[in-house]
Amino acid sequence: MRFCVAGAGLSGAVIARTLAQCGHDVIVVDERSHVGGNCHTERDPETGVMVHRYGPHIFHTADERVWQYVQRFGTFRPYTNRVKAVAGGRVHVLPVNLLTINQFFGKTMDPGEARAFVAAKADRSIVEPRSFEEQALKMVGSELYQAFFRGYTRKQWGIDPTELPASILKRLPLRFDYDDNYFNHPYQGIPEDGYTSVIQNILNVDGIEVRNNCSFEFLSETFDHVFYTGPIDRYFGFRIGRLAYRTLDFERIVADGDFQGTAVMNYCDEDVPYTRITEHKYFAPWEKDNFSKTVCFREYSRSAGENDIPYYPVRLVNDRILLDNYISMARKEKNVSFLGRLGTYRYLDMDVTIKEALHASDVIERAFQSSSFS
Ligand code: UDP
Repeated sequence: MRFCVAGAGLSGAVIARTLAQCGHDVIVVDERSHVGGNCHTERDPETGVMVHRYGPHIFHTADERVWQYVQRFGTFRPYTNRVKAVAGGRVHVLPVNLLTINQFFGKTMDPGEARAFVAAKADRSIVEPRSFEEQALKMVGSELYQAFFRGYTRKQWGIDPTELPASILKRLPLRFDYDDNYFNHPYQGIPEDGYTSVIQNILNVDGIEVRNNCSFEFLSETFDHVFYTGPIDRYFGFRIGRLAYRTLDFERIVADGDFQGTAVMNYCDEDVPYTRITEHKYFAPWEKDNFSKTVCFREYSRSAGENDIPYYPVRLVNDRILLDNYISMARKEKNVSFLGRLGTYRYLDMDVTIKEALHASDVIERAFQSSSFS
């Protein structure tokens, strides 16, 4: 059979490999000049530093199968994401942990004291948080919320936290010890040769033809089945409306030596227009001293226009209604499957994207084995 995979990001690469290994011909198309989607990494031409072209990506997972899978395609070096944050003219550590709490409130509390202290600040009238703000007030109380979450979130999402879902904040841990690891997962790392190399290796199997600079819309060939990982509303020509996304603008800064001395510095105050600065050589500690210059990206978030790259699905009530309608249309579409962050319009981390693509691969393989693929 002959398949098309639209989009050469993580989902597309995993599915394409499965199809090819089942003995089929697969054309992978991507309108960008590179594979890897928003995980794409490349060497900065001026400094030689490996940069995460579309913003920082730190691989983390609790899923054993996903962790084993990615390691077949690249060497993942140990990396622990430790984030610093400027708030109120001072530098703090995130996620909120015992050091953050003690420094912020000028205390020397032990874990039990800090837990009781934060619990006393939390808004106990909120039982089932209905918004990001309610979740934050219930979790950490007003002062920490105002300092670290309110301004950053308003800049990141362009919406007041009273209108955002609580689930966005649930991504972040709150700790009463000095552990400042941003993630709770047991496996965490960054590929030595970058994410693009990992994705190239996934795609590097007989039966796959990758076409870059090629939009799915302009293909005239026919296929037995299409796996579409682009934006679901775009597939239907935005016929019933556009799903809202946030996009990012990056301002590149090159400096001699060091710029900020760490990989990620968040800027939580609302009067600073950007959300964070990433210094990319710090994402590769094994080689960071090889470079005489450093390159940083200052990150600005804004509402995505028609020609912008979609990053974060906004998923407010109107979007979810529109999405349901697109999903109904997708179900009626013969011989097309929708996958991934854009194909399903969800805020997916890399590991979840791979997990879902591997699950889809299992389904595909079973269908081939029973000759029931359609
Ligand atoms: N967030 C915040 N302040 C911070 C970091 C994060 O308010 O300093 C909020 C913000 O709304 C963000 C969400 O927490 O969208 C999830 O943060 P995460 O770091 O997971 O975002 P990502 O790295 O995916 O952009």
